[in-house]
Amino acid sequence: MLGWSFNLFRIRGIQLAVHFSFLLLLAYVGDEGWKQDGMNGLLWSVATLLAFFTCVVLHELGHSFTARHYGVGVPRILLMPIGGMAEFDSIPRRPSQELLITVAGPAVNFVIAGILWFVARFPEDWDPNMTPGTLNELACALFAANLVMGCFNLVPVFPMDGGRILRALLAMKLPYLRATFWAASVGKVLAVAGVLLMVFWWHNYLGGVLFAFIFIAGEAEYRAVKRREMEDAYWRQLFARTQVVPPVIEPPLLTNQEPPLLG
Ligand SMILES: [Zn+2]
Repeated sequence: MLGWSFNLFRIRGIQLAVHFSFLLLLAYVGDEGWKQDGMNGLLWSVATLLAFFTCVVLHELGHSFTARHYGVGVPRILLMPIGGMAEFDSIPRRPSQELLITVAGPAVNFVIAGILWFVARFPEDWDPNMTPGTLNELACALFAANLVMGCFNLVPVFPMDGGRILRALLAMKLPYLRATFWAASVGKVLAVAGVLLMVFWWHNYLGGVLFAFIFIAGEAEYRAVKRREMEDAYWRQLFARTQVVPPVIEPPLLTNQEPPLLG
């Protein structure tokens, strides 16, 4: 399903791709804007959505450029209605590197929020849920969105950023697979709590679906790590068994005999 996407452009060698379902979101948001305020409403709601997803891309670029700094290839960033996903060639096993790569994403959101805090003028009756109708209102809305995005990603629900940070911290003390197991377990409990809270407390069914998706993604990634660890162990064992022992090079025998004198 993740294959249903089309490419936009490259950012310093990283392909930006958009999932087709994103177009549905764009159409939905445009329609809602049109119903509220005709053409003006349509343009502002589409502009707000695109500005919001530009921040999502910047968040992913924060991860991507830090990852590249550590030699991890980043072929693609995929945008979906639920957010973005930077695809890495590999995940560095050094916990300190994974920690920095992960922290870099939310850090970008906090930097953007910090800049907008100085740039925007917040009206007395400011409502972050209001659809912006001016550039200043757009700046205010993006300030709130970046603050929420930064904080939400830090919730330790694996495989979201907070869960990865937890895994990296645990991996400093535990083997990688155990660290992933515990981070995924904490994440799954929180994801179930998230589903229940969203559905029964806030009646936000889309939020419920999002947490269910995170639950499934967390379990899938734990299984992938487990499979890879088992494969690694298998190859290590096989290699140990079939390894050709290099011939031992004996040092030349030392003799007490003096070399015969020539002449
Ligand atoms: Zn992130």
